[in-house]
Amino acid sequence: MKKLALISVGLLAVVHAHAQTFPSKTITIVVPFAAGGPTDRSARDLAEALRKPLGGVTVVVDNVAGAGGSIGANKVAKAAPDGHTLLLHHIGMATMPTLVRNIPFKVESDFEYLGMVSDVPMTLIGRPTLPAKNFKDLTAWIGQNKGKVNLGNAGVGSASHLCGLLIQNALQADMTTVPYKGTAPAMTDLIGGQIDLMCDQTTNTSSHIEAGKVIGYGVTTAKPLTTAALKDLPTLSDAGLKGFEVVVWQGLYAPKGTPTEVVVKLNSALKAALKDADFIKKQEGLGAIVVTGKRLDVDEHKKFVAAEIARWSPVIKAAGVYAD
Ligand code: ASP
Repeated sequence: MKKLALISVGLLAVVHAHAQTFPSKTITIVVPFAAGGPTDRSARDLAEALRKPLGGVTVVVDNVAGAGGSIGANKVAKAAPDGHTLLLHHIGMATMPTLVRNIPFKVESDFEYLGMVSDVPMTLIGRPTLPAKNFKDLTAWIGQNKGKVNLGNAGVGSASHLCGLLIQNALQADMTTVPYKGTAPAMTDLIGGQIDLMCDQTTNTSSHIEAGKVIGYGVTTAKPLTTAALKDLPTLSDAGLKGFEVVVWQGLYAPKGTPTEVVVKLNSALKAALKDADFIKKQEGLGAIVVTGKRLDVDEHKKFVAAEIARWSPVIKAAGVYAD
């Protein structure tokens, strides 16, 4: 009994020591997609905004891309639970368990939830040389090119994969999907005309739509967006896909077992970072909405993800859009 008490006093001391010394070295935010894409862009903005509330520590981004985001997420699930390795991931945390049934980690039990970051709409975009200049013409063009249309994405289980599958399902169109390690390399090929279509976050597509490098066909929100680059695009719902809505929320995670005090420190740092005027300006200028309120609390973040898993699972199953 006495020995047990001594062990728990010892453990408590270790936990306090963690909290007092944290952060003791560079913090790495793992992005499970290629550099230059929307998740990467959010992570780099966030890394900058987190620096001050974490006492000036260096925060870097590590792109661990592949397998639709599951390689990077798995790396963080298995990393040392000391708060120095974090994961920024999106809606894939909720859709992947249904889309990909053999992922090597458990979304609900292998992570500490640190709070949500932002909600990012998506856009359906096409290569600049496509003859269809609006969504109505695009659906006709897809019909005339059965078996020939291809659609880029960031790999099985990614947001662009989900969005593309839902669009194909809604249009009853069968397209060839071309997976990349993120939508940044897919965007290069779309601009170059190697692929025809892609669905991607506004944080990556806005500048290319505005510059005329790709054609924008519609946004995936219930209401039209008001940012300069996107204000002229219809919602896909109004353009013909009634009720079509996908918003890519993003959240921050640490490996399961990270000491509670460290989780609390990271959560308060995140809350401070999301009030950073520069961070808000950069993200919201690209159509994202920075999270405020309850979803910034770790319990609410966890509840939200569980609800999203429950929400998307029947949609994915009903559409029959499994990846395996
Ligand atoms: N936009 C990508 C996705 O479809 C991820 C990325 O490249 O950031 O999930």
